[in-house]
Amino acid sequence: MQVGTGGNRENRASFVFSVFSVPSCSSISIYDSSRRGDVLPARDGPDGLGSRKISVVKRQGYRFQRTISRAVEVRGVGILTGAQVRVRFCPAPPSAGVVFIRTDLPKPAPIPASLDQVSGTHRRTTLGRGPAQVGMVEHILAALAGLHIDNCWIEINAGDPPGLDGSSQGYVDALVKAGVELQPARRAIWTVDRPVVVAHDGATLALHPSSAAELRASYILHYGWYSPVSWQIHTQTLTAQSFAAELAHCRTFILEAEAAELRRQGLGKGLTHADLLVFGPTGPVGNRLHHADEPARHKILDMVGDLSLLGHDLHGHLVGYRSGHTLNIELGRTLLRQMISEIDHQPQAA
Ligand SMILES: [Zn+2]
Repeated sequence: MQVGTGGNRENRASFVFSVFSVPSCSSISIYDSSRRGDVLPARDGPDGLGSRKISVVKRQGYRFQRTISRAVEVRGVGILTGAQVRVRFCPAPPSAGVVFIRTDLPKPAPIPASLDQVSGTHRRTTLGRGPAQVGMVEHILAALAGLHIDNCWIEINAGDPPGLDGSSQGYVDALVKAGVELQPARRAIWTVDRPVVVAHDGATLALHPSSAAELRASYILHYGWYSPVSWQIHTQTLTAQSFAAELAHCRTFILEAEAAELRRQGLGKGLTHADLLVFGPTGPVGNRLHHADEPARHKILDMVGDLSLLGHDLHGHLVGYRSGHTLNIELGRTLLRQMISEIDHQPQAA
């Protein structure tokens, strides 16, 4: 199956398909020096006219793609709908990408996990359009991306996956049990030579250059001095091992007032304080934190899931300040535009 950016990732046409079909969020600012046009190093183009490098991204290398060795299932209650949901992870061929397949619809609908499929970022990331949607995909995507599993078909019989405990741990456990296999196709690793920053309403998310060939992520959580969720920061160098050990079990969280609003909307039925980390005025209600900075760690988990929709690996230092799904997706789209630009300016073979 060839879908979205998950098709041939070296193919320029698939990039163009991805980036130009996405809606833009006009209220988001993007600060990158190439857009300001202040530093545009000259570069000889194939026409000999000195075409200019306009992107700040560069390909740093490749790694071999991975899939799972056998199919594996996770069952649980949909965090929004309260329905019993079954998710089945299946091995997929090289360059297939991650694709959700809604098996409960009259005609099974594939929903590629790619940026052009993002249809919602309010509180959660939603993919697909019309009835063929799947919401709150970020914790599943984080489990796959955290373990560097690039190709996977995910059958799901509802519009939102099992919430489990609000973390990625249950999915990581299942995927580890399935086993991981190297595949012959390569996945590109990109980095930046200058910071790329997206901003909205006092929140920022940036990818900074780094001399190390790795991806590091920092999150600064600051909801105000009187918020029940305390100011905190977490930094993590991301590898499959560190994701599984330090981030996968960190749960999503919600304020008591937000939980009450969800209940008023008829969502989250059947959930108790043991199932969802709810912050009251003095801290978690009927629950305990796994780490003092568990909320900041969870925000990095969300970043890993959302940015996996790029379909490429990143190296550098991600720094989020009060950022969430909207800025995660906007940074992904900004980097993808830069990648297309970079590929467009590479000399073509005669
Ligand atoms: Zn989350």
